[in-house]
Amino acid sequence: MTDKIHIPNVVVPPHPEWPKLSEAEKATLKEKIKRLLKKQDAVLVAHYYTDSALQNLAEETGGCVADSLEMARFGTTHKASTLVVAGVRFMGETSKILNNEKRVLMPDLAATCSLDEGCPYELFASFCDEHPDHTVVVYANTSARVKARSDWVVTSGIALPIIRHLAEKGEKILWGPDRHLGHYVQKLTGAEMIFWPGSCVVHEEFRAVALERLRKVHPDAAVLVHPESTEAVIAQADVVGSTTALIEAVAKLPNREFIVATDKGIFNKMRQVAPGKILLEAPTVGEGATCQSCAYCPWMGMNSLQNLAEVLESGKNEVHVSAELAEKARIPIRRMLDFAENLKRGVCISSPSGS
Ligand code: SF4
Repeated sequence: MTDKIHIPNVVVPPHPEWPKLSEAEKATLKEKIKRLLKKQDAVLVAHYYTDSALQNLAEETGGCVADSLEMARFGTTHKASTLVVAGVRFMGETSKILNNEKRVLMPDLAATCSLDEGCPYELFASFCDEHPDHTVVVYANTSARVKARSDWVVTSGIALPIIRHLAEKGEKILWGPDRHLGHYVQKLTGAEMIFWPGSCVVHEEFRAVALERLRKVHPDAAVLVHPESTEAVIAQADVVGSTTALIEAVAKLPNREFIVATDKGIFNKMRQVAPGKILLEAPTVGEGATCQSCAYCPWMGMNSLQNLAEVLESGKNEVHVSAELAEKARIPIRRMLDFAENLKRGVCISSPSGS
């Protein structure tokens, strides 16, 4: 099925090289950003994979550092009239969709994601049209148009219970775009699923054989893996989960050492929650090979203190999603948020009829 789909080649940019700032320059820039955030009635929402300076600043200024599910939720509850999203484009779009009346700014609108880029609307919509009897479930890492074409949006933190819920209702699922996460969820739920053949260029870099070798050198280390990784890497994990789940695992597990297979930006939060623990990067192809990601997302790397300050000063890089598109895309996102809320409270929810 998926071998018939030819997704476009995703051009992966080189990692951005930001001018090195001295500690004094950094402090001045941070003070400037703090002033601008106040002046613009803005709050900073940063992803775990962004630069640690941005993550720390978000927390110091009353914003949040989170996974994409929490980032989406945070914007809806905060009173600021401007949300500044340090992350990648789909995160800014999701914030705009859920907060259409607010201004949403991003340090760089070109910061995208290989999953989003590899799932263009027209191709994906035809795939859906070919399978009208399937419930369309898309990962949050997609464009507003793709979300609007779906029945459910999920993040890695909520994918498993939602697919289990749909499978128990006997629904057939069309899943996109991350095939590794899709296969992982299918394995655990037994759901009947067809897949869009997308992948994350960062998580696909982790190497199973090298990981086996590293585990032998550190036999007591717990292996933490994000489910966008390949099956052979996931098979070696002690914990498979979303960024939030992996951070919780570092804090809760008794191990002293951890091998972490996800973007290394997450180490900042892991060090905060578990200061004494030793964090090792899971092996990738390596800087000297064809690797273009090496456990560090080049698009997340497009966010810096410098362009954050610029954007707050100029008001450029505003995210726009038309009201009509936002209304359509909001339905499957809200469905996910309501499901997550009900899950917390132990309530079961119904899915859209016929999907
Ligand atoms: S780490 Fe992967 S999934 Fe996350 S934004 Fe980068 S390319 Fe997309």
